[in-house]
Amino acid sequence: MLSEKLRECGVVGAGGAGFPTCVKAQSQVEYMIANGAECEPLIHKDAELMKHFPAEVLAGMTSMMDATGAKTGKFGIKAKNTEALEALQRSLQSDRVEFVMLGDFYPSGDEYELVYTATGRLIPPAGIPLQVGCLVNNVETLHNVHLAAQGAPVTRKFLSVCGAVNQPKSVWAPVGVPFRDLLALAGGATVDQFGVFVSGIMMGTLTFDLDDVVTKTTSGVIVLPRDHYLVTRRARPPREMNRIGKSACDQCSYCTEFCPRYLLGYEVQPHKVMRSLGFTLTGADIWNQWAELCCACGLCTLYACPEDLYPKEACDQGKRELRAAGLKFAQRKPVEVHPMKEYRRVPLAQLRRRLQIEEYEKETAFDPVACHPAVVRIKMLQHTGQPAVPAVEEGAKVKQGQVVGRVEGSNLGAHMHSSIDGKVRMVTPECVEIVA
Ligand code: SF4
Ligand code: SF4
Repeated sequence: MLSEKLRECGVVGAGGAGFPTCVKAQSQVEYMIANGAECEPLIHKDAELMKHFPAEVLAGMTSMMDATGAKTGKFGIKAKNTEALEALQRSLQSDRVEFVMLGDFYPSGDEYELVYTATGRLIPPAGIPLQVGCLVNNVETLHNVHLAAQGAPVTRKFLSVCGAVNQPKSVWAPVGVPFRDLLALAGGATVDQFGVFVSGIMMGTLTFDLDDVVTKTTSGVIVLPRDHYLVTRRARPPREMNRIGKSACDQCSYCTEFCPRYLLGYEVQPHKVMRSLGFTLTGADIWNQWAELCCACGLCTLYACPEDLYPKEACDQGKRELRAAGLKFAQRKPVEVHPMKEYRRVPLAQLRRRLQIEEYEKETAFDPVACHPAVVRIKMLQHTGQPAVPAVEEGAKVKQGQVVGRVEGSNLGAHMHSSIDGKVRMVTPECVEIVA
């Protein structure tokens, strides 16, 4: 059965929170939607994957359609990615799959957006695509589904290394490889002092630690100078973000008016979350429900707010505190698309200008170069659910593809496999470190 193979091979969503794909493969749906929208600025690895591995992606899609009983496959891809589209069209052998052409907007790859664009259906507030008969999988996940169907576990990650590097490119990186090794593959950074956005400027994280490693969900490593506007903004401590928001938010509500979830008809209103800052001590724990349905796309903070404030981070904090207080907001109003939605879409080119990253927008062509790290650190939690439990001991010899971490019983989670041949140097509950 496909779902058993996916569980054994540790396949998780490659484009988001790493939800175990074996669970998705057990559902029954009407539409299977391939997500090739890729809209994080500067990252182009999905376009490269579709261009160079179209048959594998489509085979994974067909396997998922067979497993879930989906009669129709919708393949979401941006019209600008002509080479990828042509490669897919040449490899397509099924008449059950149709392409859904997307514009170059942010965030067209959001599940709620994509389901609406592909099928005209609106996911219930706080719901999942399954509730409207849809299943969404990122294109790299589908590639991994195809490999797992042949018995090959997830040991590599396809990603872009870009930004302020000498040779921006997309590569297959062993899971667990340090960012330092990836920078070397891309000819090194063009500046001495820099920060690294992991998996995206909009929705990813900022790190200065080059020893941190690639996981099954890392979609890109973006290097930006330490004094770049985005690095400075993101590195600000949360307390300071709140203090500035409390004093400077003029309640113009642009953050809400541009919010993609609000425009789709969900009750997300970041300006009201910001308003709560003004009524509390800075950082105090009274936030409100207008944060609950936010998808953390970052558009309000990085594009809409004319004051450079942090409504997305306020929503993050609001959601955490609502959860901690055991409160859940239920939208009662029917979901109705805002009449201005189509006119408020944000073109990627405009977003790049606002982010001051136009000079880093380059092709990240696939380079088949092999990456041979001296050491990999396989994290036991790189997915939604329970962490895997290390299944090897220090000093053991392991082969690439061998299980090094297992999720017990039927718990939600994913097994971990060694990405190289080597010897286990260290085992902790958090990771297994392997020396080549
Ligand atoms: S856009 Fe900025 S200033 Fe305007 S309401 Fe939102 S956070 Fe406040
Ligand atoms: S991050 Fe901001 S723009 Fe994006 S969904 Fe949340 S509130 Fe809306």
